[in-house]
Amino acid sequence: MPQPPTLKISEIFFSAAGEGLRQGEPTVFIRLSGCNLRCSFCDTRYAWKGGKELRPDEIIGQIALIKKKYRVNWVCLTGGEPLLQDLRPLVRLLKKAGYRIHLETNGTRPLSFKPDWLTVSPKPPEYKITGDGRRLAAEVKLVVCRSLKLEEIKRIRQKFPGKIPLLLQPQSNAAWSYKKAWGLYWQAVQAGLKNIRLSCQLQKIYGTK
Ligand code: SF4
Repeated sequence: MPQPPTLKISEIFFSAAGEGLRQGEPTVFIRLSGCNLRCSFCDTRYAWKGGKELRPDEIIGQIALIKKKYRVNWVCLTGGEPLLQDLRPLVRLLKKAGYRIHLETNGTRPLSFKPDWLTVSPKPPEYKITGDGRRLAAEVKLVVCRSLKLEEIKRIRQKFPGKIPLLLQPQSNAAWSYKKAWGLYWQAVQAGLKNIRLSCQLQKIYGTK
């Protein structure tokens, strides 16, 4: 029987989820290599290129080793942009092994499967979001970069159902970044935008991955 194709993997590691509404949950991260965007504020540039070719069963084997050490039920597929690769064979194995799957995407690619939790994090300058992303997002995460303005937040808010939280996440731990996120948060709340949440990246506060 032919083997499913390999995936290009940047890294696999255990940590507490650092971003979004799943913050703090024990999670195995599978970072896929390659991205179709080149955001100036990207903090995972090392995942743009390279990566190790691994078969889905080899990835499951690595997760099983992690699971021997930590009680963990969530796996987060992130990148780079994970939807540039065919995730379906890996997802089948993950589901068979009983994991819950969190997918983190920039929203520019159609979904190839339905995750248990979907984070859509649209990126400038276009903030392109596919129909799948709009329908299935559990949360929308906006990086508060230097160019982000209230008008853009309003435009993105309208693309998703009001019940889906929209998180404003500082770009970095720099003072300007927190200040800007705080300012935009208040403007958005005062403008009456639905379900706006102020957020942060736990991994940058705790100095973890
Ligand atoms: S979409 Fe994400 S991974 Fe890709 S360049 Fe932008 S911040 Fe980096």
